[in-house]
Amino acid sequence: MDRKLLDILVCPLCKGPLVYEKQRQELICKADRLAYPIRDDIPVMLEDEARELSPEEEY
Ligand SMILES: [Zn+2]
Repeated sequence: MDRKLLDILVCPLCKGPLVYEKQRQELICKADRLAYPIRDDIPVMLEDEARELSPEEEY
């Protein structure tokens, strides 16, 4: 994914920074413990599409 695009993306809920998880192709919001999917290189910044992080996932 484009590094510049990542720099301007924020969590739609808390407006906080996101962590790019390359292996899983997800963008992680640590504050909300949500993982937003990246589909075909396009981040899906929708709460409905986000996955809740499990307790053992630490970011
Ligand atoms: Zn957030």
